[in-house]
Amino acid sequence: MNFTVLTLFPEFIDFFFTRGVIGKAVEKRLIAGKTVNIRDFAHDRHKTVDDRPYGGGCGMVMKPDILAAAIRSVKKTAPDSKVILMTPQGSPFDQKKAWDFSREEKDLVFVCGRYEGIDERIRNGFVDEEISIGDYVMTGGELAAMVIIDSVARLIPGVLGGCESAEMDSFTGDRLEHAHYTRPFEFEGKDVPEVLISGDHEKIRQWRTSSSVKRTFIKRPDLFSKKKLDLKEKEILSKWCQQIEQLIGK
Ligand code: SAM
Repeated sequence: MNFTVLTLFPEFIDFFFTRGVIGKAVEKRLIAGKTVNIRDFAHDRHKTVDDRPYGGGCGMVMKPDILAAAIRSVKKTAPDSKVILMTPQGSPFDQKKAWDFSREEKDLVFVCGRYEGIDERIRNGFVDEEISIGDYVMTGGELAAMVIIDSVARLIPGVLGGCESAEMDSFTGDRLEHAHYTRPFEFEGKDVPEVLISGDHEKIRQWRTSSSVKRTFIKRPDLFSKKKLDLKEKEILSKWCQQIEQLIGK
């Protein structure tokens, strides 16, 4: 899968493509990461990429002619690529979207805005999709592009090491993942749940399902409206409820 990022700060992204899991995936050629400096498409001697907004007001707006030239240059070599504009006004990014991109797309192109954003005329005709990484405003689209690339790339077969499985991750089945423990067995007076050292795989599986549903109930109950509780999960929660009632003496 190829990721191309159009940005005024390519050095932010270039570094990201050389480190950690993403860096290894690039080395193994499971993914390719490229940056395009939008400033290279400016035509005056000052390399101007922004201008004052029509109608007045503060802040600057990224010029449409420069952005169009940058997008066209990428489209020339990858005509079927999907162009995504990073914007707080876009549709919210989530794990489902990450899976869709990892399965359905081959070339993703990210346009990173700066200043007050981009000239409105680029939205129509040059951009296939507008995506936001959350209801807050950052100074540029680079972090948003890296968030998306990171979460999509790790879903591509081979990118995560053999044992790590993205299928079990939080949100994949509209639940949070179960709790994790590692050595030492005892840490500052707190032990690891006994079942995890029992070697009984079925009991461990049941404990993990129970941990997952309880954590979802406490931290993200909204996920139950995306995927209804199944019988097993209802059983886990009602048993838990009984234990709490016993504890408080009801
Ligand atoms: N004036 C714009 C608005 O209120 O909608 C915000 C512009 S923001 C300061 C500059 C750039 O940062 C945007 O063009 C976009 O590329 C990026 N950006 C900021 N917040 C973002 C978010 N939550 N998701 C995706 N991109 C974001």
